[in-house]
Amino acid sequence: MNKTNDPLNDSSDLFRQALEASDHAALIANLDGIIEYANPALLHISGYALDELLGAHCRIFQSGLTTHSVYQALWSTLQGGGVWDGDLLNRRKNGELFWQHLHITPLKSGKKISHFFSSATDLSEQHAIQQRVDWLSSFDTLTGLPNRPHFISRLKASIQEVIGTHQSLSLIHLDIDNFGALNEKHGEQEGDRILKQVGEALRDSIRQGDILARLSGDEFGLILRDSQIDEQHLETVQGFASAISELLSAERMQAELTFSMGIAVFPGDGSDADSLMYSAAIAKQAAVAEGGNRFMFYQGGPENSKSARLDLINQLRHAINHGELVLHYQPQVSLVSREIVGFEALVRWNHPERGLVQPVQFIPLAEETGLIIPLSEWVLETACKQMRDWRNAGLPAVRVAVNMSARHFHMKTLPEQIAALLARTGLDAWQLELELTESMMMRDAAVAIGIVDQIKSMGVQLTLDDFGTGYSSLAYLSRLSIHALKIDQSFVRDITSNPVNASIVLATIAMSHKLGMRAIAEGVETEAQRTFLQRHGCDEIQGYGFSRPVPAEQAGQMLRDGRKLEPTLSSTGDHSQPTLLLVDDEPNIINALRRIFHHEGYRIVCANSAAVALELMALNRIDVILSDQRMPEMTGVELLSRIKELYPSTIRIVLSGYSDINDITDAINKGAIYKYFTKPWDDEILCEEMRKIFRDLREEPVV
Ligand code: C2E
Ligand code: MG
Ligand code: MG
Repeated sequence: MNKTNDPLNDSSDLFRQALEASDHAALIANLDGIIEYANPALLHISGYALDELLGAHCRIFQSGLTTHSVYQALWSTLQGGGVWDGDLLNRRKNGELFWQHLHITPLKSGKKISHFFSSATDLSEQHAIQQRVDWLSSFDTLTGLPNRPHFISRLKASIQEVIGTHQSLSLIHLDIDNFGALNEKHGEQEGDRILKQVGEALRDSIRQGDILARLSGDEFGLILRDSQIDEQHLETVQGFASAISELLSAERMQAELTFSMGIAVFPGDGSDADSLMYSAAIAKQAAVAEGGNRFMFYQGGPENSKSARLDLINQLRHAINHGELVLHYQPQVSLVSREIVGFEALVRWNHPERGLVQPVQFIPLAEETGLIIPLSEWVLETACKQMRDWRNAGLPAVRVAVNMSARHFHMKTLPEQIAALLARTGLDAWQLELELTESMMMRDAAVAIGIVDQIKSMGVQLTLDDFGTGYSSLAYLSRLSIHALKIDQSFVRDITSNPVNASIVLATIAMSHKLGMRAIAEGVETEAQRTFLQRHGCDEIQGYGFSRPVPAEQAGQMLRDGRKLEPTLSSTGDHSQPTLLLVDDEPNIINALRRIFHHEGYRIVCANSAAVALELMALNRIDVILSDQRMPEMTGVELLSRIKELYPSTIRIVLSGYSDINDITDAINKGAIYKYFTKPWDDEILCEEMRKIFRDLREEPVV
């Protein structure tokens, strides 16, 4: 750097050293925006050499994607002597975009501004996570269709658009009949495949402007714009019916798979999104009650359903006051100590005639009618007393997580109520944990933050439940000082086979740790899911794999017995031995390969399908995978492409016939596979090639 115009020239060497050592990108520019100093962090992040930056204009970093008005505001603030703070999307020398948070200050020589000093933090990682989280909060990862919250906001917008016009819109609620049974019979993977295909068939049959979404499980929603209940409308509906039937007959499953649709029309069947959704769901239920495999229009709210509802409300009121509610407790276990660290309290209704009723069947009604307040108060009180009783009985002190309802959470007196409850039961504040949801927090964000702060200051724990299914705003999360994020079970379910969900879970774990929170995964059912989560630093799990929710008596017994998670298979295995996973649906081939590698000193693990292979990948540390190409449920290339995303350091090799070479070359070009061997193979050559691969591995250990 030319010493004469080095703005740091006169400053102490200490300041220079500090700037050079900082991991914040720092820059000094003159009044014309010409760069006179750039520190090593800036060179590193921008990819420019010092010579290229000195004397260049600051706009060298501009991406062209930040609006002109932002720069205008920036320069006018600085020239007026103010400090500018904000995010900019910049470009590196190699063309890549990156986000920075900049803090720019004018520097004065005497009274006049002579230079500007800019210090920046890199936001690329946060923005990448945010983008992923934004996507996941609006779309369903299996079908790629909008999800329920996104659908409802589109429905609200569509209603706004047609209000005051002569247009109408219809909402269709579609449900596959007996999907649960089908899933059980053919397996979840086949179930997922069918859902995907139904989604595709529906997508192909809608008109431009119609909106399709997957609402949950096997339920789809459809908004038809500008459609009257006339012949044309019926034709559209029948169009879906036949599109799906065609698909099903192509699948040769027509006899098994049918569906029910409920149709509600705006404004006649509901004046807002919620009531329209409700009417369509009622109409769908009526279609199911008629035996399924049909569509029905909403019948204008039959009187008997209204009276049944009133009846249920009265029964629920009675239940709350007469001890018909019970709490079941589901343990939450630490993946570090493997011990029970808490329980989630889940309410059930012990109905005198209907037996144990699950919360999904009465919580929404309680929310609607306000009965949720006495219900929630009862749950809080009962859960806290239970913890105190266990502690008094000498059992280890653990947390209890209680699900908050939106109404209860927004009650002004909630903090006082909780303080009084803690005083009354003598429970330590840390033992109580409140589970909040994002929608609850978004209703009135400023009020919500105030309540959270008050409750937190008492020492009560706060967790964000069902994370990933709501708004998932990072900016908002970092302002909310909560203790834990609970990853929704819909992401955990296929974590070992769906790279998109797996990466969302990993991003969520990373993000929660960055923000100083615990990550807890719910719905953990299998050993493979647990091992995967454990390997990626998740703190706690909850799910049927360890225990279903159980009555208090049984939960207390678990604490008394000191029940723990079993050690994982991978933690007990021998890690020093290199491991080879063989995948082929033909047992003969597996046996032949086993024989060949038998004396090579590898630990050999075998799978007879892609699904088993994914399970074993999660359970074991696999160095090399050798997979057949032609397998019934998934090709070897497809399997290895997923494995590339899930376990990038595993060496992936495919074993194929000559006819598959095109697919395989393509996969090699995309980096999905490392090598391929052809069938029939030569034992000697195969063995030697494998030795080479393992030798290279030893020289460059897999991390
Ligand atoms: P949630 O808070 O997300 O609770 C987790 C649900 O997942 C529970 O269902 C639990 O039984 C279930 N679950 C746990 N592990 C697994 C697993 O491994 N596999 C599967 N498939 N499911 C698992 P549950 O008890 O039916 O509760 C459903 C929802 O009802 C809860 O969702 C919560 O939103 C609400 N709820 C339950 N109790 C209360 C309460 O006391 N107050 C309020 N306001 N809501 C409650
Ligand atoms: Mg919960
Ligand atoms: Mg949950």
